[in-house]
Amino acid sequence: MVKYRSLYPLLVLFFSLIIGLQTQAQDYFLKKYGPFDPNIPSPEAFLGYGIGEQFTRHDRIVAYMRKLAELSPKASLEVYGYTHESRELVILTISNPQNIDNIIEIQKEHLQLVDPNDYSPINTNTPIVIQLGYNVHGNEASSSEAAMLTAYTLVASQHPEIERYLKNGMIFIDPTINPDGRDRFAQGANKFRSNEKVEDRWDAEHNETWPMGRTNHYWFDLNRDWLLAVNPESQGKLKWFHKWYPNVVTDFHEMGSNSTYFFEPMKPIGSLDPIMPKENYEDLNDLFAPYYSEALEEIGSFYYTKESFDGTYPGYGSSYPDLQGGLALLFEQGGSFGLKRENDFGTVEFPFTIRNQYVNSLATVKAAVENKSKLLAYQKDFFRSAVKDKVSSGFVGYEFGDLSDNNRTKEFIDLLLKHKIKVYKNSDRFTVPMNQPQRRMVQTMFETYRKYRDSAFYDASAWSVANFYNMPYRGLKSITKGEEVNTTKNLYPVEKVPMANYAYLIDWRDYYSPGAVYHLQRNGIKVSSSFKPLTVKTTVGEKEFGYGSILVPVTRQEKSADEVYKIIKECQEKFNVPIYAVETGFSVKGIDLGSNNFQRLKTPKVAMFIGDGPNTYVNGYEAGEVWHLLDTRFHMPIVKIPVKYVKRVDLKKYNTLIMVSGSYNDIDSIGKTKISNWVKEGNTLVTIGSGTAWAINNKLVKEKLTKPEKEKDSLEKIKRLPYVDASENRGREQLGGAIVEVDLDLTHPIGFGYVRKQMPVYKNNNVFLQPSKNPYSTVAQYTQEPHIDGFISKKNYEEFLKKSASLIVSSIGSGRVVMFADNPNFRGAWYGTNKLFLNALFLGSHINVPPSSN
Ligand SMILES: [Zn+2]
Repeated sequence: MVKYRSLYPLLVLFFSLIIGLQTQAQDYFLKKYGPFDPNIPSPEAFLGYGIGEQFTRHDRIVAYMRKLAELSPKASLEVYGYTHESRELVILTISNPQNIDNIIEIQKEHLQLVDPNDYSPINTNTPIVIQLGYNVHGNEASSSEAAMLTAYTLVASQHPEIERYLKNGMIFIDPTINPDGRDRFAQGANKFRSNEKVEDRWDAEHNETWPMGRTNHYWFDLNRDWLLAVNPESQGKLKWFHKWYPNVVTDFHEMGSNSTYFFEPMKPIGSLDPIMPKENYEDLNDLFAPYYSEALEEIGSFYYTKESFDGTYPGYGSSYPDLQGGLALLFEQGGSFGLKRENDFGTVEFPFTIRNQYVNSLATVKAAVENKSKLLAYQKDFFRSAVKDKVSSGFVGYEFGDLSDNNRTKEFIDLLLKHKIKVYKNSDRFTVPMNQPQRRMVQTMFETYRKYRDSAFYDASAWSVANFYNMPYRGLKSITKGEEVNTTKNLYPVEKVPMANYAYLIDWRDYYSPGAVYHLQRNGIKVSSSFKPLTVKTTVGEKEFGYGSILVPVTRQEKSADEVYKIIKECQEKFNVPIYAVETGFSVKGIDLGSNNFQRLKTPKVAMFIGDGPNTYVNGYEAGEVWHLLDTRFHMPIVKIPVKYVKRVDLKKYNTLIMVSGSYNDIDSIGKTKISNWVKEGNTLVTIGSGTAWAINNKLVKEKLTKPEKEKDSLEKIKRLPYVDASENRGREQLGGAIVEVDLDLTHPIGFGYVRKQMPVYKNNNVFLQPSKNPYSTVAQYTQEPHIDGFISKKNYEEFLKKSASLIVSSIGSGRVVMFADNPNFRGAWYGTNKLFLNALFLGSHINVPPSSN
């Protein structure tokens, strides 16, 4: 023991020398901020290879961050969640040791800025809060590597400049926002990596396989999820975010290899959210931009600003923090997507892309620290004005609630609470007052717009989330708040169903009822669905049951009444749905329990095409939304079949096949005939968006797409336009994302469980269905004036949308095709239209529309 101890100082010296040497090897990145503390390993020393020589796996990134926290009093590590694939989501906090020791005090002081009722003067000696977020898109890999270099520099550099940053800033590094996607990409790129770097874009290293690493486990774009908070990555982040309300937040991305580098300001017209204070766009961005241009010019890198990207949708990492009194910043680096890649100017190499992200990480810290008092004052004003200013709608709040579906209402309230919106219960409805710190989030959730911008959009132009949930709501001119809701636990206690010897009835209007029904079916319970309404006496009194109510006839099961009750109880506990015990089959009104209008339901056996082929690309977002919906909310298995197996797969194993948007050009006539014959045998094909267009264009059904009125293309009708406007004008005709109203047939099985004929749907494609010639086939059609929220060009609105159907079911043989023009599962957040989709799965097999007479 003694011997070893005496050797110890020598060993330390020896390893310090090695570490010192390795540090120098990465001078390309680090030389500006030397000297470095020799006791802290550089990323290269820790990983065993230089940054930029490989794609670092997320667990190695976390291990490095953990090592920094272990070795340095300037850093501490926090796990803020776990991904779907159980990877750790971490934040490394970096500041000087005094600040780290006083973190609780600093946090308390910082939170006074977001309290509109706090009138204490701003302490400008308090550190500014900076959150550096990286790699939300997993295959834009440069930024997580830059995160390690940034963390190392901040923790280990002994340069006075860095010490000044740490004195004046609390820096929170989130090295990988999307670890599941990052590792999917890193594994793919490392797999094909060569010692002799291959820049040829056709090399496998540069060609990711489906699904690409951009998205998370269920193929969601996490850079759209800050508002909707569907995924654990965003839920964890929001929780963390609302503990700190950072003043500055970064969001690092990559774009095509021929592009240089982009930083804000964004495109001026497209990126204005009307509820955002103007200073955010005008003053703050302009303060930061010179720091980035200086940092990039210092290393000779080119860049551009102002020409592109749009920051209006409030669910981006570069926009949500703006709605919390911070300044969020987007960065886009022309990517190498591999270690080296050819482009118009020769090649772009991975280390080069990392270095640009790295210098701008440090430039962000510098800019934040040097503009501290301005940013702190801005945040204070932001929350003060939230409770002070009148809003242009004149409303003092909103009232909402859907009495027909407690679980959907509860999910909506849960989302509001995740954003720290104050919600109150007032008798059987809920109110949200404008007079609260999160007033701008209230506006975001409820306000709708027709036109406040007229340019081409990078993304959605409508996000009034209340409409996503099909939530009835109204603006209030005066408000009685009621009792504050802090949690939705026990908000809607479901009365425990007593044992029945005759029958149980389940209310299909409840959001989670399909999960309950599937649970019964997979446990061998036979159920049927009411194709007409009824009123019956239950053990808790007379109840009305609408279309689609589920009947469990106890005496017609192969199980005993006790066994049935056990399964009924399980499913009520799991899904929290209203279930009623009934001891008589004789209805007070409508059909009796033994009626032929109760149809025995088949258990859905669902498959979906995914993947790609030489000329095929299935929309991974839409496929992921379906998978996520069934797997995580309704606990239903779904078979994901790579579309290249279309000719080999035995479709007889399934009764429902889903084709989401995509190009399916590799399905040849044999494949088409196979699908068509399978449908004719009594099965259900469900298509969405361009999947629907595929079914129509390939004549699987007799329906048609809406055609524009014959353009009189005589020469004098063609108006000359400036070349420079072409892409903007064309872009305007792409329907990027708007909320429109449809009229729903509540008696059609696809409309079962709905109580209002008019409802919002999400339209983000140019697929327009001509209403069917069969009078019973058009389940949902756009109303006379369908616009609810967002931008639609006049041409799309007048010539297409108003004349079209949103949802058609067309019979072929004994089967049918359920055709959605619009995506009912958009971003996992359209709770309002999910049931249309689930009805297609549960009730599709029971739709038999007589063929049209003509
Ligand atoms: Zn990106």
